[in-house]
Amino acid sequence: MSELLHRTAAELAAGIAAGEHSSEEVTRAHLDRIEAVDEVVHAFLHVDGERALEAARAVDAKVAAGEPLGPLAGVPLGLKDVLTMRGAPTTCGSRMLRDWHPPYDATVTRRLLEAGLVVLGKTNMDEFAMGSSTENSAYGPTRNPWDTSRIPGGSGGGSAAALAAFEAPLTIGTDTGGSIRQPAAVTGTVGVKPTYGGTSRYGLVALASSLDQPGPCARTVLDAALLHQVIAGHDPLDSTSIDAPVPDVVTAARSGDVAGMRIGVVRELGGEGYAPGVEQRFTEAVELLSGLGAEVVEVSCPSFDAALGAYYLIMPSEASSNLARFDAMRFGLRVGDDGTRSAEEVMNLTREAGFGAEVKRRIIIGTYALSSGYYDAYYGSAQKVRTLIKRDFDAAFERCDVLVSPTTPSTPWPLGERVDDPLAMYKADLCTLPSNLAGNAAASFPAGLAPEDGLPVGLQVMAPPMADDRLYRVGAALERALTEQWGGPLLNRIPQLQEVSA
Ligand code: GLN
Repeated sequence: MSELLHRTAAELAAGIAAGEHSSEEVTRAHLDRIEAVDEVVHAFLHVDGERALEAARAVDAKVAAGEPLGPLAGVPLGLKDVLTMRGAPTTCGSRMLRDWHPPYDATVTRRLLEAGLVVLGKTNMDEFAMGSSTENSAYGPTRNPWDTSRIPGGSGGGSAAALAAFEAPLTIGTDTGGSIRQPAAVTGTVGVKPTYGGTSRYGLVALASSLDQPGPCARTVLDAALLHQVIAGHDPLDSTSIDAPVPDVVTAARSGDVAGMRIGVVRELGGEGYAPGVEQRFTEAVELLSGLGAEVVEVSCPSFDAALGAYYLIMPSEASSNLARFDAMRFGLRVGDDGTRSAEEVMNLTREAGFGAEVKRRIIIGTYALSSGYYDAYYGSAQKVRTLIKRDFDAAFERCDVLVSPTTPSTPWPLGERVDDPLAMYKADLCTLPSNLAGNAAASFPAGLAPEDGLPVGLQVMAPPMADDRLYRVGAALERALTEQWGGPLLNRIPQLQEVSA
């Protein structure tokens, strides 16, 4: 395994700019690694080595010509397959879009390409981002590099596993209910859901438009901040984009000073149903932050108990409306169009064949919740709960600068264990959902390995809207202290993956 694979994105970029190694070498090392391990990990759905190497050589030419470069220029990256990129398929992990080649770049994609990042390919995900394990992908599951018999989280399991398997130093995820943070937690990586409106949704295939948010995934806090800086900021093409300066996440990630910071531990996000090792590592992380001068208080957010119920009405409602566009006429798959069938029959056959079980389940729930006669009882009530959750956050943020909790109630479970039990699957998002419903910023940082099974645990940090920099301040403090305690990055302790070819 090339030594370049263990460097951070910041180190790789500095080396490329200084001419110590070329972007082409760095890109090649990662493509070789993908070749060697992705048959097992299956983090990628699509890899375009030629295109990546061409982009890398373009950066190298700029270095040679002494032209100015962005802070991550020449660094390879994986893009979740729900964001469009011209010249590559966008499948959303669904049969419905197997051969769909979007005619345009998402704003996030465009910013990455303009900043000179090298896109290696598209990463695996639960179909249309519905799931917590990446087992709902129509193209087969991704495996957790810590233990390949376990789930890598979801829906962005591909983006998280690619980092932990050293297939890419950076990836992009999207988070509707936790799909950046939960995979980060169970793979020992860093994942940030920016404030809603902080990153553009233009070109992100919509799951639930009022909740979806793209964000950075990385192995270190500084790398995530550098990537955040590249993709964030106002976009006139997204009507919910916030027209305000991007919080200074990079300075915060470099500082890591938490002295005097008020940190609130959310009482409702812990206790019964949480694995002992998760609670232990969480408590230790909080003690550590307190030792660094943070002031720790307990806060109560009683409405968080209703977040799961509210989310699983609002999200399917929005999804049922968004997914109506997959009608066999405009995008992707069309089944049974042999001249004998009506448009409605073709639509039915296509949806039957093109959507998996979880997608169908949610479309049916959402359609039911929005139907006249049930709208007020279900969707209307869920929106009221959403307001209560927002108020709980507002009250807590009056007393605290950030809130913390475990990211997930458990460490990664065995593949297959929850596929037939949707509710057990949904419970993986208990701690992450409130921030999507309220629209504030939140992140997951590695907090260590659970003593009982040696698998990763994440600490969730939540900050008020447009105070994303506070996440990075806390993350950096934790990372610095824990790396010292562990005698190196947590991922150094990952079992060596069996290389399939090479
Ligand atoms: N696991 C959650 C769900 O299934 C979150 C998905 C997401 O954030 N995209 O809806």
